[in-house]
Amino acid sequence: MAERYIVVGGGLAGLATVIKLAEAGKHVDVFSIVPVKRSHSVCAQGGINGAVNTKGEGDSPDVHVKDTLRGGDFLAEQPPVKGMCYAAPGIIYLLDRMGVPFSRTPEGLLDFRRFGGTMAHRTAFAGASTGQQLLYALDEQVRRYEAEGLVRKFEYWEFLGAIKDEQEVCRGIVALDVRTMNIEAFPADAVMLATGGPGIVYGRSTNSLINTGTAAARTYQDGAIYANAEFVQVHPTAIPGQDKHRLMSESARGEGGRVWVPRKKGDTRETKDIPESERWYFLEERYPKYRNLVPRDVATREIFSVCRDDGMGLDGGDAVYLDVSHIPAATLDKKLGGIMEIYEKFQGVDPRHHPMKIFPAVHYSMGGLWVDYEADAKGDLIKDSPRQQMTNIQGLYASGECDYAYHGANRLGANSLVSCIYAGFISGPAMISYAKNKASSKAGGDAPSGLLESAKKQWQEKFAAIGKMSGSENPYQIGHDMGELMIKAATVVKKNSELDVALVKIKEMKERWHKVSALDTGRTLNQAISYTNQLWNMLELADLMLKASRLRDECRGSHYKPEFNLPTPKTHDPTQDPEWMAAWKKRNDTWLKASMGRWSASGPNVTFEPLRSLQTETPILKPEPRWYG
Ligand SMILES: Cc1cc2nc3c(=O)[nH]c(=O)nc-3n(C[C@H](O)[C@H](O)[C@H](O)COP(=O)(O)OP(=O)(O)OC[C@H]3O[C@@H](n4cnc5c(N)ncnc54)[C@H](O)[C@@H]3O)c2cc1C
Repeated sequence: MAERYIVVGGGLAGLATVIKLAEAGKHVDVFSIVPVKRSHSVCAQGGINGAVNTKGEGDSPDVHVKDTLRGGDFLAEQPPVKGMCYAAPGIIYLLDRMGVPFSRTPEGLLDFRRFGGTMAHRTAFAGASTGQQLLYALDEQVRRYEAEGLVRKFEYWEFLGAIKDEQEVCRGIVALDVRTMNIEAFPADAVMLATGGPGIVYGRSTNSLINTGTAAARTYQDGAIYANAEFVQVHPTAIPGQDKHRLMSESARGEGGRVWVPRKKGDTRETKDIPESERWYFLEERYPKYRNLVPRDVATREIFSVCRDDGMGLDGGDAVYLDVSHIPAATLDKKLGGIMEIYEKFQGVDPRHHPMKIFPAVHYSMGGLWVDYEADAKGDLIKDSPRQQMTNIQGLYASGECDYAYHGANRLGANSLVSCIYAGFISGPAMISYAKNKASSKAGGDAPSGLLESAKKQWQEKFAAIGKMSGSENPYQIGHDMGELMIKAATVVKKNSELDVALVKIKEMKERWHKVSALDTGRTLNQAISYTNQLWNMLELADLMLKASRLRDECRGSHYKPEFNLPTPKTHDPTQDPEWMAAWKKRNDTWLKASMGRWSASGPNVTFEPLRSLQTETPILKPEPRWYG
């Protein structure tokens, strides 16, 4: 019997995997909780990185590797990063050939803009709606395979859990049709989770409402390791909203946008009446080399501190200006049209003529399901190895924002889209190799029917039990409280005292979960039951994020605990300050390790494990101080 493959997730990582599987003539079932074209990748604005050096700046994949590893403060495993950066230019040209309407220079060449954490113009873009163009291009390819009968789409189906046999091997999934509330089991030889990030654990973020992270969180409860859960990126520039925060992409600064506040505290003048000399461009002043394009964690902390510590925020509150009003309106419309419209629509102010008011917001998870890799002595990934992107559960893979592999302690802007597509592209062949290697024993997605039936029955019983819950707690209220708690305890600045309180509170919320009311007894489209199940998974993930944050006593990338910060170097170049270098080395000896979260009924079990790629004599890049001054 021919092998069968399952891909859960129809964003860039999922569709890239499907393309590789179908291209090899394999049969794939794709599951997505929303139509694949509504996957969160559609929201990506600013662009996709690839070091093509069309502007003659000396950029290259090696410089991209270096920027990425430094950007993540050396917490990413190095061979996957190298693979991604070397593949990136080819991925951009492939997307171009697929018909992505990338923005172009007047000569007709692909245009590239600058993004944070690099000095090079490395980011290809399609105005400010790059994600939409990329997603539609991959969707078009997948539709071709669908028409050929290789791909079956299960849209509006929610992954509930993986099916494992007695050997702990993944043999398929259980999924829920969210329209009929029908639960079914599906067999597969290999399963990919490409289910995106967990922003909704924080309540309000720049993420879509479907980004609950619950598929990864469920899998973590079923034995998958969840790594680096404490690393959650807070993007420096978003419009705060009561319902959600709306991103003002880094591309605004890439095109010349400047961040400032009035030099005089409490200055209430109209911006046009504040002369240049009375504006404090604090990023440019403090980081003369990278200016407004320091990496996100750095920019976020500066904006946060200007508002909260210095009290210099606009009107004394949580806002600074992001100013593009000095750029001609026609250029803004051409290069940043999408975000100009978003700001105007939600704020009622035209950003082409008035500075935008922004503040940091939760945006992206560097952590995720731990995945394996196999590389040679030079750090090059071994082609088609079944180990690429496989979780610690045999036959279960993870790619995209839900894996942990590419961004370490902080992701550089525009590196996510390329990591999603790259991981998807290497996962397909890896899944095929895996299925082929085990073909003699268990090919054909031929999981025993008893195994499938019993998994399906367990989930049916679970949903029936949730449907009968009649306590006094409202699940949506618990979800709201969880978000507020996470924002307070685990965003820009973390404090152990607050994390201790939060860990107690999250346990209380888990107890409250057992007292919820089902809210809706309908037999179709019952979102409340589905949400209640997701809420449990989110609470488990929140617990892990808090625990890993509590245990990591250092500052690295997005994870910042002021009491453990390294001292300020006495020299401009920190490598010239021996005392600082000794402190930096000591910190790395203890903490240059990935946190590995393993689920247990009594709470998350977090250990810190050295990076494999740094255990070799010749890593691709030896860790060095991360300094953008
Ligand atoms: C506003 C915004 C702008 C951004 N701009 C950029 C940018 O310019 N450049 C860049 O590099 N990055 C950007 N990012 C980050 C980037 O968009 C994401 O990290 C990336 O698109 C994630 O892709 P993915 O394929 O991993 O997941 P997603 O695109 O989130 O797709 C997840 C898929 O999984 C499905 N799914 C989830 N859970 C389940 C379940 N339980 N059952 C069934 N299906 C499920 C969903 O339906 C969806 O199809 C941006 C992020 C935001 C929020």
